[in-house]
Amino acid sequence: MGQLVVVFLPFMAHGHMIPTLDMAKLFYSRGVKTIIISTAEFADPIKKAQESGLDIGLSILKFPPEGSDLPDDCVSFDHAMAYEDLFPKFVKALSMLQEPVEKLLEEFRPNCLVADMFLPWSTDSAAKFGIPRLVFHGKSTFALCATEQMKRHKPYENVSSDSEPFLLPDLPHQLKLVRTQINPSDLEENASLFSQLRVQMREAEKRSYGVVVNSFFELEPDYADHYKTVLGRRAWLIGPLLLHNKDDVAKARRGKESALDEHEIKEWLDSKKANSVVYVCFGTMASFTSAQLRETAIGLEASGQDFIWVVRRGRNDEGNNDFLPDGYEERIKGKGLIIRGWAPQVLILNNPTIGAFVTHCGWNSTLEGVCAGVPMVTWPVFAEQFFNEKLVTEVLRIGVSVGNRQWRRSGSEGVPSKAVAKAVQSVIKGEEAPEMRSRAKKLKEMASKAVEEGGSSMAELSSLMQELSVYRSPPNQV
Ligand code: UDP
Repeated sequence: MGQLVVVFLPFMAHGHMIPTLDMAKLFYSRGVKTIIISTAEFADPIKKAQESGLDIGLSILKFPPEGSDLPDDCVSFDHAMAYEDLFPKFVKALSMLQEPVEKLLEEFRPNCLVADMFLPWSTDSAAKFGIPRLVFHGKSTFALCATEQMKRHKPYENVSSDSEPFLLPDLPHQLKLVRTQINPSDLEENASLFSQLRVQMREAEKRSYGVVVNSFFELEPDYADHYKTVLGRRAWLIGPLLLHNKDDVAKARRGKESALDEHEIKEWLDSKKANSVVYVCFGTMASFTSAQLRETAIGLEASGQDFIWVVRRGRNDEGNNDFLPDGYEERIKGKGLIIRGWAPQVLILNNPTIGAFVTHCGWNSTLEGVCAGVPMVTWPVFAEQFFNEKLVTEVLRIGVSVGNRQWRRSGSEGVPSKAVAKAVQSVIKGEEAPEMRSRAKKLKEMASKAVEEGGSSMAELSSLMQELSVYRSPPNQV
């Protein structure tokens, strides 16, 4: 068999695109010919990888596709999420990509298609060409298990109020959530268009070849076993994918260009004490009301710690520039750095002065925190972030919750400044801080070992590649 060819088909969101490029780099480093099918909005980091000498192929699909009802500037999931009426149109536009993607599969004739969970039709597309489709969720194994068990057991139906806790059913640990912490569309079976898409995603996943996971066995061994053995999924844990970016330039260039000069940020950080600075960032989609941003500002100041706070000025909160208390920026000069826009997160997290990461528990951010050995203040907002919070605070015990109990797709609020200050202080200098830090450092070491030659993730990758190289499509598949 000649060189393996793998096509990657990511979803239009940075949280999905960033790890997909990392994954393509990993496969490429193993001698696989890799091609990413992207859209113009997300192509820059791939082009930069090419310029740095990586021979990763790039095909750009037009998005929104021809004939879609989306406005031309709706080029990403976070844009569609910000406007209720765009959401169904976005979901429809996703399905319109099937035909152009199949044209590309015809051209490239790959051995395998690694496609995002949001593109369920890709299982059929792969089958048309007699190749396996691997699903990429960009989630933790823990969240994959919790989602499935919630779906099977519906424990939220057995509580009498939104505030009565229920057990996450049939999982290796005893963990509790309340109804307000789960996606409302989980509660209304098949009602919304999004719920329907999720049914299609599950059905397509069952027929797919398996799942590639951006995680590593040692981080969540009970859940890797649970997923494969109890839930019967074929899965390969091949992460942390971000660790395949070896040099600082590649680390800094994940996603977008930094809004502030990287050297300036480094200089600022280098002037601080080890483990003393709090890094606050909520990923690329979470949004907050002005009132919540104000509470956050007050809480960070009250914590007494130095901090870097990344404030995303998304389309949905445009104009909310008055969220800072009067005279705030003057008062925090030298102590707090506010980055409006994109921050080089992985570079910042790996600076030895960072002592805590206030995170929304998006899986990429969580894993980046783990790989940097930094304990966390968990502040989940939506998606599967409330599950990841449980993993961080109660299973891995490397973080403290800020106490948000409300799942909200946009305009999150309700966390008082006192809770922010308290959680930050307990992670930096609370009674449990030293143990938390030492557990976080151990996980960091385990993460780098997993991706070294002979490490668990490399072993999983080798066995996956071996399977792909001898794959023959079943006679009834095509
Ligand atoms: N990110 C970054 N700088 C920012 C905001 C986000 O580098 O200012 C990166 C972050 O490092 C992570 C990704 O964007 O790799 C966000 O993914 P995650 O799964 O954490 O959250 P999402 O944006 O999907 O909610």
